[in-house]
Amino acid sequence: MKPTHIEHIGIAVKDLKEAIPFYENVFGLECYAIEEVADQKVKTAFFKVGQTKIELLESTDSEGPIGKFLEKKGEGIHHMAFAVENLAEKLSFAEEKGVRVIDKTPRNGAEGLKIGFLHPKSTFGVLTELCEDPNN
Ligand code: ZN
Repeated sequence: MKPTHIEHIGIAVKDLKEAIPFYENVFGLECYAIEEVADQKVKTAFFKVGQTKIELLESTDSEGPIGKFLEKKGEGIHHMAFAVENLAEKLSFAEEKGVRVIDKTPRNGAEGLKIGFLHPKSTFGVLTELCEDPNN
């Protein structure tokens, strides 16, 4: 399984318009992309910290995964994403190991990445995303 690095940390926020200036003004990071992922009912904003990104997630639909998360838990860390190679293989491997896999096959994420999630009940409470850059 061995990930190559932490690709990003996903943070659920109520309002990108408030969260983006915080990361820019306090941490001095630059928001280099804002993207809506219709599939996941979110609008995302990205910052780079070395090799790792911070992905801010604003809900576009209260019934979507981030909408529900915000209602239940409020703002905060939503998931952690590992970069892997051969994502489809890694998802099958996790399943073979008895991990509850949310996406049995890769699907499309932000930034043209292929992604798949592992259920937090199987990962000691951390919603874990595996992602592969098909252009790498
Ligand atoms: Zn993510």
